[in-house]
Amino acid sequence: MFFAKKKEEKEVDLVAMAAHQLRRPLSSTRLSLEMLMKGDFGPLQPEQKDIIEKILKQNATLMCLINDLLQMAQAEASPKNQTGEYVDVMSIINAALTLNYEEINRKKISVDFNRPQVLPRLRLKKEAVAIIFNNLIDNAVKYTLPGGWVKISTALNAKNIEVKIQDSGIGIPDEDHQKIFGRFFRARNANTAAPGSGLGLFITKNIVESGGGKISFDSKEGSGSTFSVTLPAR
Ligand code: ADP
Repeated sequence: MFFAKKKEEKEVDLVAMAAHQLRRPLSSTRLSLEMLMKGDFGPLQPEQKDIIEKILKQNATLMCLINDLLQMAQAEASPKNQTGEYVDVMSIINAALTLNYEEINRKKISVDFNRPQVLPRLRLKKEAVAIIFNNLIDNAVKYTLPGGWVKISTALNAKNIEVKIQDSGIGIPDEDHQKIFGRFFRARNANTAAPGSGLGLFITKNIVESGGGKISFDSKEGSGSTFSVTLPAR
């Protein structure tokens, strides 16, 4: 099967396979490190804890990178402009919130989701729409400090569906606005807040635009961010 495919399809398969294979050892390394950290194998010196914390951070960064590479491969593997497919945006956003449920709870973030009344038909594939909202909701939760909030609202008209994802998080410094959708770009204030690869928004913008949509944002460092996605409804 693999050898019967075109060169680009093989490359996508290869990235997907490599990403899957890399996730397993990385997860088991994280589990072992967490056990060490909890003192399951005996008490640790503060210096030893520091080092384990650093390795855990690197582990989380690698996991983000692998997940994003996998997403990129999935997005490339699916035909993007399939018309007329019924996409249930509400359940896609609900699923993205569920994926972040643990972190939302842990950080006591309040979530407000104004659910759409009517579900539109979108030109993009379901998997592609899921990648868009997973990335944006994941970022909103990830970059919001404990006790903050995330608001999701939708608006429909004859031609478009617009989804706004607003957060009270760390915001994006002015000087980084131009570069934020670039490949591997992370803003100056991102590293101390959360691990990441800088690939999510690059992938998201590509998918949105390949479906004839638009993505924009408004953000101020320290005052939160609002990402808006407009996708053509049918
Ligand atoms: P990452 O894996 O680093 O989160 P993304 O491509 O999703 O990568 O985002 C790129 C950068 O944009 C992030 O590193 C962060 O600096 C900034 N960013 C994205 N979303 C938000 C947000 N909601 N609040 C603050 N900064 C954000």
